[in-house]
Amino acid sequence: MNIEKLLEYQTEDQKIMSIEEEIRLSQLSKDVRKIYEMVNLLYEKGKESEKKLNEIKGIDDSFKNVLLDLNEKISFLREEIGRCETLDQLSPVEKEINEINQSTYKLENKIKEIEMLEDIARKHNAIIAKWKQAYVMFNQKKNEFDAYATTMRDSRIAPIRKRMAEIEKELSPAELENYKKTKTNVKNAPFICEYVEGYCSGCHKDVEAEVGRKLRPDVTINCPECQRILYVR
Ligand SMILES: [Zn+2]
Repeated sequence: MNIEKLLEYQTEDQKIMSIEEEIRLSQLSKDVRKIYEMVNLLYEKGKESEKKLNEIKGIDDSFKNVLLDLNEKISFLREEIGRCETLDQLSPVEKEINEINQSTYKLENKIKEIEMLEDIARKHNAIIAKWKQAYVMFNQKKNEFDAYATTMRDSRIAPIRKRMAEIEKELSPAELENYKKTKTNVKNAPFICEYVEGYCSGCHKDVEAEVGRKLRPDVTINCPECQRILYVR
């Protein structure tokens, strides 16, 4: 068990993690995420206006039916008036006239709804145009970010990886595997830490005395509380 080498390996690994964090927290990364949110928001808005467009398309059809009904009634009424000889006979025709007035009122409302449709249709096109614009902007920023991240990884991370590969040669496959497994499980560095007077220096919890008895300068044990690799000097 080569603790010093493993610690050295972890130090290099943490340097990479902090560079990755720097990339993640960069202004470019924030810009990309912000524009991405905007793209999604405009997409949702576009979907919503599209839904309304389809809804009003249904209304448009019923409006046509109302208009047809109205025309039929008008021609019927004209024939009726022609047949009327007394005022009493005109009374049902009057009733018809009232119905036509009601239909006209309905028709007016339909026209208002159609005007709304036109308004939404105009907005829909504007939303789609904005969405396309935002999408182009997102791709540009994403490319900028990718180029920046690649430069950072090539210039700063690649040399560290090279050093880590050198250290790996001096570690046993079992040590390396345990380190990688611990890193996956624990997530927050450090992954290997010292056992000091009954405590794990990673999670600062009191560890079973049995662990302390088993630990040797050449034997590591994973902390029963946080799973970090414990060692003693
Ligand atoms: Zn622990």
